[in-house]
Amino acid sequence: MKAVRIHEHGAADKLRYEEVGEPKLTDPTDVIVQLKAAALNHIDIWNRRGLPGIEISLPRILGADGAGIVIEVGEQARNVKRGDAVCLYPPTGCSRCEFCLTDRDFMCLHLRALGERLEGTYAEYVKLPAKNCFPIPPGLSFEEAASFPLVFLTVWRMLVTNAQIKPGEHVLVLGVGGGVASAALQVAKHMGAHVIVTSSSDEKLTMAKNWGADHGINYVKSDFAKEVRALTGKRGVEIVVDSVGGESWSKSLGALAKGGRLVTCGATAGEHPSTDIPRIFWNHLKIFGSTLGSREEFRQILNFMRTSQLRPIIDHLFPLKEVADAHRRLEEGKQFGKIVLQVGE
Ligand SMILES: [Zn+2]
Repeated sequence: MKAVRIHEHGAADKLRYEEVGEPKLTDPTDVIVQLKAAALNHIDIWNRRGLPGIEISLPRILGADGAGIVIEVGEQARNVKRGDAVCLYPPTGCSRCEFCLTDRDFMCLHLRALGERLEGTYAEYVKLPAKNCFPIPPGLSFEEAASFPLVFLTVWRMLVTNAQIKPGEHVLVLGVGGGVASAALQVAKHMGAHVIVTSSSDEKLTMAKNWGADHGINYVKSDFAKEVRALTGKRGVEIVVDSVGGESWSKSLGALAKGGRLVTCGATAGEHPSTDIPRIFWNHLKIFGSTLGSREEFRQILNFMRTSQLRPIIDHLFPLKEVADAHRRLEEGKQFGKIVLQVGE
């Protein structure tokens, strides 16, 4: 089969589109899916570059997100059959620890994700546990079905499970355009929130308004914490979605109302910002850290997509063999929504 692998860590030119042996069923609870589309995430870039502390055996097929058709089913797999169109829940765990036994594989100490410790979705076929396959919500294309699992799972856990978003609340989403931020905008709007977004690009702020954002702040031209205060009658917002970190961190805390909640799942602009501890206790702030989410949360998202008819925002489609261009687009932050690879085109 054709697949994209890295043989060594480095820049986008390390991605090799090449002929690779097809996966074989060895575990009776696994299935093989013929992929139609795979989506990019920032984790793919980190895996490509190499992250300290995360051993990836090389060569490795990258890609955590995908959608396609089940073509082979292990004899103990009951939830899917051949021919089913499925989207993929990305993480799997050891099946034995306290986290895995309570549907929290994503917290397993032996977490294995597609494209990291398992062969990923930048390929014509992928092998994974049957329990990680879910029916594609009606009406979604394979490209849309590949684009939402990782970011919507992350956003759902942050906004719905952790921050317990309510209709009418004010939500600030930093760096709109990124996959998590654009998904957060969509979920928050569908939940009836008033959404303020930030970007360094006026063009992206205009696009965000077309997708329902109530206000856009260009953080290069003005201090977003001050502007949020002005927009909310000095009160601040109830929730900040910060997947950026860096210099934004203290401003995110400064933009929160008393009792506000900050949710974080990334630090693309810096991992060790200074922080304002008195602001946290004086203002009774809550900070929720999160990555991914449970299968139950994934089921909730699928139901939500069915009933709300929400469609994920697709930025750009690339054929699988043009993966290096797709990675560069993501690394340069040019996207608004998800970058998707079409497989077998
Ligand atoms: Zn486990």
